[in-house]
Amino acid sequence: MNRNHTDVIIIGGGIIGCAIAYNLTKRGVKPLLIDKAPAVGTEASWAGAGILTSHASTHEPYPTLCRASLALYPTLAEELRVETQIDIEFIQSGTLSVFFNEAEAAGLIGLADRRVKRGFSAEVLTAEQAWQLEPALAKSIAGAVLFPEDAQVRNPKMVTALAKGAAKLGAKFQLGNPVTNFIREDKRVIGVVVNGETLYADTFVIAAGCWAGTLTAQLDVPIQIGPAKGQIVLVEAMPPPFQHIVDGLGIYIVPRADGKILLGATVEYVGYDKTATVDGTKQMIDAGITIAPQLAQSTFVQTWAGLRPYAKKGPLLGYLPGYDNVVLASGHFKNGILLAPITGQLVAELLTTGQPSLSLEPFQPEVV
Ligand SMILES: Cc1cc2nc3c(=O)[nH]c(=O)nc-3n(C[C@H](O)[C@H](O)[C@H](O)COP(=O)(O)OP(=O)(O)OC[C@H]3O[C@@H](n4cnc5c(N)ncnc54)[C@H](O)[C@@H]3O)c2cc1C
Repeated sequence: MNRNHTDVIIIGGGIIGCAIAYNLTKRGVKPLLIDKAPAVGTEASWAGAGILTSHASTHEPYPTLCRASLALYPTLAEELRVETQIDIEFIQSGTLSVFFNEAEAAGLIGLADRRVKRGFSAEVLTAEQAWQLEPALAKSIAGAVLFPEDAQVRNPKMVTALAKGAAKLGAKFQLGNPVTNFIREDKRVIGVVVNGETLYADTFVIAAGCWAGTLTAQLDVPIQIGPAKGQIVLVEAMPPPFQHIVDGLGIYIVPRADGKILLGATVEYVGYDKTATVDGTKQMIDAGITIAPQLAQSTFVQTWAGLRPYAKKGPLLGYLPGYDNVVLASGHFKNGILLAPITGQLVAELLTTGQPSLSLEPFQPEVV
């Protein structure tokens, strides 16, 4: 066997690529993961807020996928802690969604009904009840809905833990240079070119986040996946003003385990631009202070922006049309952290048994 040959090459070391690598190693496959950056998890998977929502939309099967992934978190967090000594800070903090007027209340009460119908809990609270739970909330709120099953995770730690866990079980990593080309023989990919060197494999997984479409285009398969920029503001306040994730006015506030508070996020379709702007920062700070006036006294720490992989009907999970040895796993948009555990599991099942435990048919990549 050629020394440059491996069973599976994964292109992209974000949370999706690393979750796939981790799940493959658990099933005895030792993949090679390639990332253009010098470390794993430097893009959207680093930038994300780490909120894990108990989805209840009626547009099945997407919410089923989300709920299946959320259910995997407690066991996975414990497994990663034991195997890698990394605490991914999975905390079931719940979300308190605040409303300021009747229209917002109606929208949230509708959401509460949908979640209850799908087996989750939701509690509609008066303003007084909400202040009892979170005294820092503004006196101008009209009420809130508590979603206790929502959780959070520290996503950069999770990517590191998945990569470390995979490496312990034999996954290899080639970091610091992009895949620039594919080598094809008839209708099969047999290798990828990295820094002028060809690396061969039987099967390839494209998990390159918002860059996945540029790679599939090189294989003459145009798939619409592009960047959706999100800006985040990080502040610090002692003692922390919140226990729950709080959302309202189009933003969310995440109290992290390290005492810092994250305010996010914009959704902007501006290409591959990762600038954190004054306007984006101002939007989140203004809304944050309206929700909790004492945030005005917090210490400003940092802003950043990341590029969510946006696909109209994402996520796209399955064999690339026309290729029986190239799998696409991208387009997770706003929920890639939430969906990483189930994506890793299903793609690993597809590659090892051909029979994922949830059907990937609805998520099949389609040519545009
Ligand atoms: C501001 C913001 C807030 C978010 N909040 C949440 C949240 O609260 N909850 C949630 O579930 N999700 C959230 N998300 C979404 C989530 O972060 C993404 O859906 C997820 O990180 C996507 O993971 P990925 O691995 O597909 O992409 P990425 O993390 O972008 O990884 C793709 C990787 O591919 C590599 N790559 C690209 N091209 C090549 C190439 N040619 N060769 C080699 N490597 C290549 C890149 O370097 C990168 O490391 C948020 C995102 C943002 C930006």
